[in-house]
Amino acid sequence: MKLPVVNHQDYVAKINDDNKFPIRKFGELANYLINQKIVDRFYKPNYCSEKTLSRAHSLEYIASIKKKTIDTKSQKKIGFPINDSVVNRSFRATGGTVLASKLAIDHRIACNTAGGSHHATYNEGAGYCVFNDVAVATRYLQSKGYVKNVLIVDLDVHQGNGTSDIFKNDKSVFTFSMHCKSNYPAKKNKGDLDVSLDDNIEDEEYLKKLKDNILLLNKEKYDFVFYVAGVDIHLNDRLGKLKISEDGIKRRDEMIINNFFEKNIPICGVLGGGYNKDFETLVRLHAILHKTCASVI
Ligand SMILES: [Zn+2]
Repeated sequence: MKLPVVNHQDYVAKINDDNKFPIRKFGELANYLINQKIVDRFYKPNYCSEKTLSRAHSLEYIASIKKKTIDTKSQKKIGFPINDSVVNRSFRATGGTVLASKLAIDHRIACNTAGGSHHATYNEGAGYCVFNDVAVATRYLQSKGYVKNVLIVDLDVHQGNGTSDIFKNDKSVFTFSMHCKSNYPAKKNKGDLDVSLDDNIEDEEYLKKLKDNILLLNKEKYDFVFYVAGVDIHLNDRLGKLKISEDGIKRRDEMIINNFFEKNIPICGVLGGGYNKDFETLVRLHAILHKTCASVI
């Protein structure tokens, strides 16, 4: 069977050319997945409804994005101009993670080609994140009665501070973040399990730490796993301060996917960050998630 993967052309929002965010990667990743025959066709998401969004965000914040009335300071904190294209993208990509999570329930495993907007909190966006798609999809699955206990594994180089903030009083959702101590955000939030890594650590140390923590996670029971597979841990990333190789990322993804897939826990993979100095490398690194998931299904 082919891995269900979600993509939409709206993911490539129009932002200024001088914006440092590599927005083209969402389109190029889709092309790469088709060319490499990892995917035959994409599932197309709807816009996420306001009702679904409101399970993880305030109505005021959702309206400020939809109506583009958000103030300049909050817009700066997000890092994207809140124009029509970015608004469409935000609703569409969140709908994409919701769709991918439903596909994961049906097929055991599925991925979005965006998502992992883990810095967005209940009331505001930050760090290239408008809506916290994984938080929204978690609450969606719970509201439908599909799942009770959810684990969020966040291996982006940046801490999933928005996610742990949204779920801080929610015992049904376990947030695990393994990130670089000196990377954004300067002030870390407290999740259920946080592992702060020193700058410049390499594959073996990283993978050993990850393995130890997977063993800890395996002591609990979960109905569903979201995996934020950020590739900004790569040694050639513009923002990340770790020194993980391409092979290290591949081994990381295999470790996570195999662990939960073998336990028969549905898993939904989302992209997370990636700002590699080399664009082709960036696309290839993001595709490791889909390739690894496709290899187990
Ligand atoms: Zn990141």
